[in-house]
Amino acid sequence: IIDAVVLSIFLTLALFLMLRIILLKPLYDLNRVITKTDEDGLPVNEIPKTGTLEMVTLASAMEKMTLSIRESQAILKDEHDRLVESESQLLLMLELSPIAVRISTMDGTNVIFANLAYGELIHINRDEIIGKNPHNYYRDPMVYEEILNRLYHNERIYNETVELMVEEKQLWALASYTLITFQGDECILGWFYNITDQKETELKLQYSSNHDVLTGLPNRALLSSIIPRILARSKRHGTYAALLFIDLDGFKKVNDDHGHETGDVLLKDVALRLNSLVRGDDIVSRIGGDEFTVMIGDINTREEVVPLIQRILDTLNEPFSHTDHLLFISASVGVSFYPQEIEVDADTLLRQADQAMYEAKVRGKNQFAYYDEINENSYENTIDSASSINKALKNEEFILYYQPKVQMSTGKVLGAEALIRWNDPLRGIVYPDEFLPIIENRPLIYTLDQWVFKKAVSQLSEWNKNDFCTNISINFSAYTLKQSSLVSSMDSILADYPNVLPSQIEIEILETSALHDINEIQKVIDILHTKGMTIALDDFGTGYSTLSYLKKLNIDYLKLDKSFVMDMSTNSSDLSILDATLGLAHAFNFKVIAEGVESIEHGNLLIQFGCDYAQGYAIARPMPPETFLTWSGEWKSIPAWTSTQKISSNLIPLLYASVEHRSWFKNLENYWNNQDPFPPKVGEYECRFGEWLLNQGPDFFNDEKEYARIQKLHHNFHDLASQLVTTNEEGARGQLWNVIYSVHLDLLKMIEQKTSKSDVPRI
Ligand code: C2E
Ligand code: CA
Ligand code: CA
Repeated sequence: IIDAVVLSIFLTLALFLMLRIILLKPLYDLNRVITKTDEDGLPVNEIPKTGTLEMVTLASAMEKMTLSIRESQAILKDEHDRLVESESQLLLMLELSPIAVRISTMDGTNVIFANLAYGELIHINRDEIIGKNPHNYYRDPMVYEEILNRLYHNERIYNETVELMVEEKQLWALASYTLITFQGDECILGWFYNITDQKETELKLQYSSNHDVLTGLPNRALLSSIIPRILARSKRHGTYAALLFIDLDGFKKVNDDHGHETGDVLLKDVALRLNSLVRGDDIVSRIGGDEFTVMIGDINTREEVVPLIQRILDTLNEPFSHTDHLLFISASVGVSFYPQEIEVDADTLLRQADQAMYEAKVRGKNQFAYYDEINENSYENTIDSASSINKALKNEEFILYYQPKVQMSTGKVLGAEALIRWNDPLRGIVYPDEFLPIIENRPLIYTLDQWVFKKAVSQLSEWNKNDFCTNISINFSAYTLKQSSLVSSMDSILADYPNVLPSQIEIEILETSALHDINEIQKVIDILHTKGMTIALDDFGTGYSTLSYLKKLNIDYLKLDKSFVMDMSTNSSDLSILDATLGLAHAFNFKVIAEGVESIEHGNLLIQFGCDYAQGYAIARPMPPETFLTWSGEWKSIPAWTSTQKISSNLIPLLYASVEHRSWFKNLENYWNNQDPFPPKVGEYECRFGEWLLNQGPDFFNDEKEYARIQKLHHNFHDLASQLVTTNEEGARGQLWNVIYSVHLDLLKMIEQKTSKSDVPRI
């Protein structure tokens, strides 16, 4: 028993020992190797392949697994590196994109990324943008809230115009927004394309196409769109509306005796007086030379307008003071009411009031007449004046004058505009403004326009025979353009003069009439084009042209209305209309001709802005045909114009600045001449030129010395002006004025030299 026990203990011990040596030792070794791992948890050393077959297999399997994990890890790392690289590329692209990009948190309150272009768009350092709430930059923060709301409803927002407001300056951008994941978070991505320049040009044009440049009152176009609203309101309230058509009596005489400038001042005064009489809701507009209207809505009885009309008549009867004399005018007022027995529209109402105004004129001026009370008699009166025009036509009392049109830079004569005159045996030469309005919308104007066409064509024929080849522009009224027989009548006239080429004829269509019936007029234009004639849009800038209208009209020339041209050298808003119009004309491939070029200075500015064709008193006044022939032979180009050139766009600000200076100087001159009792504010920076010089000057003049010189000159100029204002002694004032004048010329000379290649100052 003892032996057996000892033996079994011995055997158990031997078994235990064998187990440890053969099985547990290799496991222990394996464990030791695999527990020594790198940071990713993979064994650092090779796994020993010893021991039993199973142990070796186990070790090999583990080794394979480790290897494959290592390979996958390497691939993943490569992928990761590539992703990091492409993300930084994308960020760089975003950063450098010319389109402004902004990324904000999902709630929209916090900017987390903004690129360079975004900083430029809103003129703010990028560090100051990050972390801020972008809603501050929207002109109306509610718009931003709305955008966020739409985004949360998964609406697509693409290229919508938003109005931004940065440091009190309004900007416009085309904006698109979308939701993205950025750096792991859901965010809002916005793109912004700056369209401020385009928008400003559009607004300028829109304003100028809806307002009268001189008085700032609404013009005919705006009036036509306002009237229906007022009529609709009266209809709703069951009240009356009245339209007063006011034409000044004796305005032409003021213009003739004292010049256009005085006439303009008077018109501005009239506008102020009229505006001071009406209620807040009533609309005063200027719809033509000396024609104003007042639209009144919501009156209970027709009689309610009488006191207002009386006040208008009274206030316009009071003298207007101008320089040292008083000017006297009066007004004739025509009134039409709404509603009437049959429904009437804005145009009818205006025409009726116009007709009533004629009645008031015929009755002796300085009074008013109601349209619906015009009696048969007075109607005959107008017919009477119309029939005297008819008689004049039969008696061959009409003649054509010709006013040259030239290319300023070369001095080439392009042709002439035919302008009608009535050579009345009793009254002498009568101008078209006095008789054309009487027949404006009557068949007689068509007869008259046909007569002008025939006369002009026969003139061309005669000149052609004498080897004097030129072109003639002919004015057609709106009424004429609507006549279905117009084209055949022109054809038969042309057939009578086979030596005249249709390309020698240009037809001028008033902007206002072209836009009334654009489709109909466009058809006529197309027919005239196929015959070889050219078409000009006359008095451009006074009508209602909008971009879309212009695109429709297939015209060759835009004829800039004289009202802007005459004022552009002292009025920067007229200059900016010119600037914008030329830009537009260029975009649509129209040629532009300026009318009313009254001075060399006008011509210079026009050329510098890129408008080379001109017509106006600085070149020649309208003249009889014989005179035009000799004039054409003798006319020499104006040296100042041939040496002026279109200036590069970076110099344009200087032109604006020089206009500001001229305008300030003109105010001072008015004060000096006692035309204005108050001097302009004399401070050096109170004038817009000074302001410009201070703020933009350093960037503009890269030559420091040049900048210092012009600043000094400008400083002296204002210094002298302030002495002038504070000095009472006459002699000293006279001397001061002379010095001021010469410093003014020096300043202009410096500006001229900067804007032109020629050294000769042209002032
Ligand atoms: P419009 O077509 O705009 O003609 C230009 C007017 O401006 C002419 O007035 C011309 O004498 C004047 N003018 C030219 N240069 C200057 C300048 O430098 N400064 C200023 N202040 N005025 C200048 P006019 O001859 O009295 O003609 C007045 C309007 O009568 C014309 O304006 C045109 O609309 C119309 N008209 C003239 N002849 C005819 C015609 O034969 N048929 C038709 N339907 N209308 C005509
Ligand atoms: Ca014309
Ligand atoms: Ca014109």
